[in-house]
Amino acid sequence: MAQMLINGELVGTQSGTTITVRNPANGEVVGEVPRGTAAAVDAAVGAAAKAFPAWASMPATKRAQLMHEAARKMHEVVDEVAKLLSLEQGKPLAHAKLEASRVAENLEYFAGLADKLRGDYIPLDDPAKFGITIRRPVGVVAAITPWNFPLTLFANKLCPALAAGCTIVLKPASTTPLATQRAIEAINSAGFPAGVINTLHGSGSEIGDALVSHPRIHKVAFTGQTETGKRIMQLAAKNVTRVTLELGGSDAMIVADDADVRRATAAAAIGRFFNAGQACLAVKRIFVFEKVAEEFMTKFTDRALKEWKLGDQFAADTKMGPLHTEHQRAEVESQVADAVKRGARVLAGGKRPEGAEYAKGWYYPATVLADAPEDSRVATEEVFGPAVPVFIVKDLDEAIAKANSTVYGLGSSIFTKDMAKARRAAEQLEAGYTWVNDIQVAYDQLPFGGTKQSGFGKEHGIEALEGYLEKKSVVLASG
Ligand code: NAD
Repeated sequence: MAQMLINGELVGTQSGTTITVRNPANGEVVGEVPRGTAAAVDAAVGAAAKAFPAWASMPATKRAQLMHEAARKMHEVVDEVAKLLSLEQGKPLAHAKLEASRVAENLEYFAGLADKLRGDYIPLDDPAKFGITIRRPVGVVAAITPWNFPLTLFANKLCPALAAGCTIVLKPASTTPLATQRAIEAINSAGFPAGVINTLHGSGSEIGDALVSHPRIHKVAFTGQTETGKRIMQLAAKNVTRVTLELGGSDAMIVADDADVRRATAAAAIGRFFNAGQACLAVKRIFVFEKVAEEFMTKFTDRALKEWKLGDQFAADTKMGPLHTEHQRAEVESQVADAVKRGARVLAGGKRPEGAEYAKGWYYPATVLADAPEDSRVATEEVFGPAVPVFIVKDLDEAIAKANSTVYGLGSSIFTKDMAKARRAAEQLEAGYTWVNDIQVAYDQLPFGGTKQSGFGKEHGIEALEGYLEKKSVVLASG
């Protein structure tokens, strides 16, 4: 059985109860983790608080060395971790390997920044005085992650936290704890002092509240649903704990009349069907100009039908595994059913696949909808699965207005050869990211984070460090 890492030790839980982890492709048990308790939360947070002063004052070059070594350790276990991720999450093995490798890359990126943090010199009116700013780590971080990209999302928190000098308690989703736990054990074996990195397992309702509202937590880094994010904010308010919230999205893609339509359909397909559509940053609504609508629909539908082969996550030709849970599939099915009942046409997919190989898993095919009403659920809610509505618009004004008519503001994209249109979209789309003529892929170097109800605070890039640092002013007067 996997365990929790608390104060440098692998431990179970006093409750003696466990969480069973199952394979979404067939329901088989793939492992178990201890079910954390309030006492475990207290022990993990206490260990992180105890480790904080020494970790924060360790020379940054030494912290960076440990992080480089952790990246090396992570590379050694990429295959093992990827297999666990595939088994527990349902994603194809090749995609799980990419995700596991990215943890090591993320460690390297932030290791490189650890010793480049600086303050400022600020002259003051009084010539006998001057000001400086110094940057101090915020303290103990609680990192709470969802099940869709468990490794990417813990790394997005762990790496800047360590580089900034924070200690951390990580709580992965209770349906995907195994790959995270194994990766953390490998990372920790690089030689981090006890208590710098800790893990806890359990559901949000069991230990999440206790972790977020713990008085010794100084920052909560959360990725998950918008509704959960609102609850986290309320809980954090109790101790005025700072939060970074990476929440849901309903990204719009605009395809203008001068677009390279073939390229747009390729980006739309990857943007919508990768990870079986279970991605925050994903093409969730498509707005196509009338002139190219027919060509777009035909080519995009063709890709959905032919390129996104459903199957077992370990089969070499699988592009899309099962959805993660029965609940997840039921949700997508009911969103599609709502659109169809109200007049949407199903151009691809739209019903569970038939065949014995799909009988035991939560499979759902790549689905394309036309003529969905603008107030149907696929248009107004986040669709966290491989289904997408395509809407026809007359011009950029209409496309931008409709793209912005959502509570979300995570990603967005436009396909056009006209720089004026691209610039307007970049400036006016209400989102944390806009891609022009490109696939929605987040880059380590670029700050990533949402606006509106997609949250606030940045992950990736130098900006990610700001969330883990306090800028302090110091006045120096000559004696
Ligand atoms: P979720 O909100 O149900 O759970 C996320 C995590 O929060 C889990 O670890 C869960 O156990 C924990 N949690 C739940 N209630 C809690 C509480 N009261 N206190 C503390 N922790 C609690 O999200 P999910 O269904 O696992 O993930 C899918 C959602 O995440 C989607 O909405 C998706 O868009 C979003 N997401 C956003 C980003 C981003 O970067 N913006 C990235 C990936 C996923």
